[in-house]
Order: sequence, then C-alpha cells, then structure tokens
Amino acid sequence: MRVDILEPPPAIEPNPDGALSPEPASHRDFRRDEYWRRIPAYRGVEALEFHTHTFQARHTVTNVRQLAETLRGLAPDSFFEDVLRGLKNAPMALRISPYLLGLIDWENPHEDPIRTQFLPLASEQVPNHPELRLDSLHEQKDSPVPGLTHRYPDKALFLPLDSCPVYCRFCTRSYAIGGDTDIVNKVKLSARLQRWEDAFAYIASSPELEDVVISGGDTYNLKAEQIRMIGERLLGMPNIRRLRYATKGLAVLPQKILTDSAWVDALTRVVEMGRRLHKDVVVHTHFNHPNEITGVTQEAMDRLTERGITVRCQTVLQSGVNDDPATMQRLVRRLSYINIHPYYVYFHDMVPGVEDLRTSLRAGLNIEKHVRGHTAGFNTPSFVVDTMGGGGKRDAHSYEYYNRETGIAVFTSPSVKPGASFLYFDPLRSLREDQRERWQDAGERRRMIDEALGMAGLLSRS
Ligand SMILES: *Cc1c(COP(=O)(O)O)cnc(C)c1O
Ligand code: SF4
Repeated sequence: MRVDILEPPPAIEPNPDGALSPEPASHRDFRRDEYWRRIPAYRGVEALEFHTHTFQARHTVTNVRQLAETLRGLAPDSFFEDVLRGLKNAPMALRISPYLLGLIDWENPHEDPIRTQFLPLASEQVPNHPELRLDSLHEQKDSPVPGLTHRYPDKALFLPLDSCPVYCRFCTRSYAIGGDTDIVNKVKLSARLQRWEDAFAYIASSPELEDVVISGGDTYNLKAEQIRMIGERLLGMPNIRRLRYATKGLAVLPQKILTDSAWVDALTRVVEMGRRLHKDVVVHTHFNHPNEITGVTQEAMDRLTERGITVRCQTVLQSGVNDDPATMQRLVRRLSYINIHPYYVYFHDMVPGVEDLRTSLRAGLNIEKHVRGHTAGFNTPSFVVDTMGGGGKRDAHSYEYYNRETGIAVFTSPSVKPGASFLYFDPLRSLREDQRERWQDAGERRRMIDEALGMAGLLSRS
C-alpha cells in the first residue's frame, strides 16, 4: 500500500483578539524589583522597611498635597490640579498606599490601570447616564438592622465598619464607605459594639440564614481581636455554616499578611475553629489588573496557602483597566497561579461620578467568551450584573431582553424579587451618535425603556 506524503498543515492563523496567542509565561513573572525607589519620597527606603504594614499605613496618602509631596516632580503640576478637580466630582475620598503608588507607571499615569482606579482626573470624567442614581436606598431597604443586608434567602451581608486601607473610585458602597466628599454625605457605619450586637441578634434569630459575608469597609481594618470575636460569635450560632471575610488587602497592602502576625493568627484561629465545627471559613478579595499581583502578593498567598485558607477573588470590570480579553485572561491565570480562585467579574455598578469606568454589557460578554476555556473551570469567574433596585446578582447572559442599539438590558430575579424587572444601561459613549441623542430627551427615554420592558415581558412568556 502506498502512503502519500502529506503537505504540512497550514500554519494556524493567530486570533485577532489574541485569544490563542498569549505571551508565554507572562502570568508567571512576578515583579520583585525595587519599584518604589523611583518615587522621590521613598527613594531611600529599604525593602525590609517598605514591605511592612506599619510603613505602608504610616505613609498612606489621603490628600492631593501629600500626593504632590510624595511624588515631587514625577508628575507635572497640571496632573495634581486635574486630581484636585476630579475629587470635587467624586463619590469616594482619596486614599492610596505607598505600594500602589510605587506600582503606577509615572511616565504615563493617564493610561495606568492602578492610577485609573484610585486617582480621579477631571479631564476624564464624563456626565452620568441619565437613568443613574445613588442606589444606596436598596442596600438599606433590605437592612433589618443598620449595616446588615438580608436580601437573599440563606445569606446576609454584614458591614462591621465603613473604612478601608485604600478607597477605590468605583466603590459599590460609596453611600457609606470612607469620608464625606463634595457630592456624597455618607451614611456612617462605624465599628460600634452595640450595632454589631444588634446584627448578631438578628442573625441568631433568623434560622434560614446559613451564610454571612463579613465585609465593610474592609476587614483588613478590623483589629485582630475583632476578627476573632466576630468569627467566634457567628460560628457559635448553630444555623451559621459559612463565613467569608472580605478584604481588598491582598491587592493593595499584601505586606500586612507578612508582618501583622496578630491579624493573620486571628484569622487562622477562626478558620481552624470552623474546621473543627465542620464549617467553612474563607477570604474573599478583590484584584482588577495583573499589575496588582507582585512577588509580595505571591509570598502573602504562600503564607495563607500554608495555613489552608481558601481565597476567592471578585473583580470589577472597568473601562481602561481590564476591559479587554488579553488583560482579563492574564489576570485570571495570574490569580490562579498563586491559588486565588477567580469567583466573580462584576459589571460596573451604576454609581454616580464614575461613568468613565463603565463598559457595555456587550463588551463584557465578549470578554467572558474569551476567558471561559482559557483555564480550569473552577478558576473561571462568572460575569454578573448586580441589579439596581435590589434584584441581586444576575449572570450577565441571563437577560430577558437586551437591545444593543439603545443599550438597555432587562433582567428578572425570580428567587429574590419575583415578578419584578431590573434594568441595566450601557454607557452612552458606547452607543451610536443617533442613539445617544435619543437619550437626551425625557419622553424618548421613557419610550425606549417601556419598549425594552414590553419586549422582555413578551419573550419571557414565550
Ligand atoms: C453579594 C451579596 C451576597 C453574597 O452573594 P454570593 O453570590 O453568594 O457571593 C450576600 N448578600 C448581599 C446583599 C450581597 O450583595
Ligand atoms: S476596598 Fe471595597 S469597600 Fe473599600 S473602597 Fe474599595 S471597593 Fe469599596
């Protein structure tokens, strides 16, 4: 029998979206250089001192004067004026750690994904979507006691405090977190024992509750004894099976895991107590860009892994930060590499003052398509919309109707608010010019929304 010699197969075309052409191993390269030494104020700081939580906390920048003094000449005066004007229209106060300042590329701060998340620039702000309002009412409306939101049948969100080690421009809880700004007077949720006791009493007397998210604010800002007390009280309740401590700390100040042994030991004790009681205690964290993961993050995660502590990540999809397939793929691979499980990618909430950070539903769904299949299924995040009006989180694909021209999506949430519809709006700048104009007219807006609700009703009945 004759065997034909086959032509070699044609070369595989690289995918224009970059899906099949990842830079090999780039997600495994963790920065270990002394990046902070480029910042004038930290030029003489040794690694041993820089990588302590006490140095980071002492030198955290909370106003534009400190920012300018720290960076001295690294950015032009016009940059600091831009930040100062940006803050006038911002829902969140300024707070950024030396670690994050050191990771920003000061040659090109306008494009830098870390700068974009923490330092508002007036020159980049755009008007809010006309349907957007501060949805603080809904978290509070679903709150039986201040700082405890009970929206879903078996789980509740407990907010023991209202501060964080840094303040993210886009915080979903901008109605309460951090100091007042020119545009938001915050609801105060300070760490008060009596308020906590009211929350514990409610949780203990709600037998349907099994799962408590301890968030904030940020549990990094709780003292070691508070971490332990909250954990012991909740694990002691027979109905409670699952606890999650939420902290952005690993992404913005990983040094604390390495040098604040009292805090890490307190967390470990609660995890171990959970294990003895056959209950689940984990950490949920929040990374948005691969640049936030460095050699120090890897060392911090190594410590938590050695102690058997599970860490999951919730990411916020943001324009100019992580709204392209290659960045999100690299983020997911890098998180997975250090044992952090990507859990959710949230579509950006409709929070006033940060419209420049939102993306369209269509853009996010395209990114999801590229992320799924790129690595293990258990490290593949769900892309969710947390609906305005208290419908809860919905899988972004599960819309009843989505009009890509007007940018209106309609969701329902039968297990949370049966019979109700929830709307999500693409940012106007992602729409065609003629559609954008329709949004300027109140009557036209009403018609577009009614049309979307009508279509959703028809489709869900069929
Ligand atoms: C997000 C959230 C939870 C936890 O939801 P999961 O989908 O289980 O992560 C609980 N309560 C409230 C109010 C929430 O917003
Ligand atoms: S760390 Fe979380 S709670 Fe704190 S400002 Fe950022 S998003 Fe908001």
